[in-house]
Amino acid sequence: MITARSEELFRQSRKVLAGGVSSMLRAACKPLPLFFGQASGSRLTDADGNTYIDYALAWGPMILGHSHPEVLAAVRRQLAQSQMLGAQHELEVRVASKLCAMIPCAGLVAFSNTGSEAVQVALRLARAFTGRRKVIKFEGHYHGWSDGVLLSYRPAAPLDPDYAPQLGTEGQSPSAAEDVFVLPWNDAGKVAALLEHFPEQIAAVITEPVLCNSSCLAPEPSYLQSLRELCNRHGALLIFDEVITGFRLARGGAQEAFGVIPDLATFGKAIAGGFPLSVVAGRADVMDLIPRKRVVHAGTFNGNPISLAAAEAVLDVLDRDEGAVLKQIRSTGETLISGLRELAANAGVPLCINGSGPVFHISFTDYTGMRDYRDTLHSDLQQRDRFLEAMLAHGIYLLPDGRWYLSAAHGEAEVRETLAAAEHCFRDLAGAQRKGSMPPRRG
Ligand code: PMP
Repeated sequence: MITARSEELFRQSRKVLAGGVSSMLRAACKPLPLFFGQASGSRLTDADGNTYIDYALAWGPMILGHSHPEVLAAVRRQLAQSQMLGAQHELEVRVASKLCAMIPCAGLVAFSNTGSEAVQVALRLARAFTGRRKVIKFEGHYHGWSDGVLLSYRPAAPLDPDYAPQLGTEGQSPSAAEDVFVLPWNDAGKVAALLEHFPEQIAAVITEPVLCNSSCLAPEPSYLQSLRELCNRHGALLIFDEVITGFRLARGGAQEAFGVIPDLATFGKAIAGGFPLSVVAGRADVMDLIPRKRVVHAGTFNGNPISLAAAEAVLDVLDRDEGAVLKQIRSTGETLISGLRELAANAGVPLCINGSGPVFHISFTDYTGMRDYRDTLHSDLQQRDRFLEAMLAHGIYLLPDGRWYLSAAHGEAEVRETLAAAEHCFRDLAGAQRKGSMPPRRG
């Protein structure tokens, strides 16, 4: 695989663009962050002309695949009318109505552009509504890169036995950590104990309903329901960060899939199929703090017509035939998961897959009982990186953390090609391990 043009562009880029990437997480792509030209359906073409089946999907948003004709047509129609208004227009009403109908917790919605912004609005609403300051978040959960929540996402070793909130970056105000309690996930007893210990101080419990940002761990049966009941009992708001699960696990997100309705939920990524749009949705009495001017929600690009035109098209497609597209995505992903499991087992490569068809994660370990972030730390990361690089060389583009996103553009052909590539890669890994050319597995 020749990547000379990407290498050259990356070299030039680093001279003018900090780190040569526009979001730091992309720097983790190995052997280097590739430069891309074309993207269509499930396929990407890089600057050297290599083509790949894409399971990164721009880190999640491309739920219908790249350049979906209905999304592009809607955007073109809108561009012919207006580009950006910074004022009200009919699409806002149409998309907001659709969201209120699709999302179980949505009495009202508010638009912004990124998941990080939506989370900021949700937390502000929760603090204003309850008159309380503290928030519970869970270790390994990611809620964007703003100061208030970039805490204990990837805490550095040694891990604190008491889960003291760990700042995520230099330059972050240390006071961010003062407002947040961090707990291990999937342990309702710990949440109950904290809520009891700090009565009337905790405004909200915020969680990814599936821990997509740390190995795609599922909630234990009844865990989300326990969080719901605990929040009710203690007057705290339950916030689901559905930036990944939204419009992916089900039309109404994880809250529909698990039947647990939060007070507030944040959405981003898939909602506009590749255009910047995020949403906070929630109980009308909580959201009402915005029109009552008690909570500030603002933004020059909020509700921009291009993103909303894209969102309307995406939501139409997802809603068609009782959600047939999401069912198809799930079933394609499930076929892929079982194929990968079988091939790894045949090759004798220990592989753990968490998650489900629409979004899943692979780690190289024989430990399958992962429940929280700390459980995810015992896999063989070198083995994962070797696998990812080998898959890349076979034309399969994956995210550097081992997460796979599926889209409507992935079908039988993609699964067949991907499994054929995986079979080679697992065999090579096993062969290399047998020859002793690799260090022993950790964990
Ligand atoms: N919440 C979750 C669960 C996310 O996965 C992300 C992004 N990966 C965010 C919030 C932040 O979204 P954005 O990158 O659009 O700010």
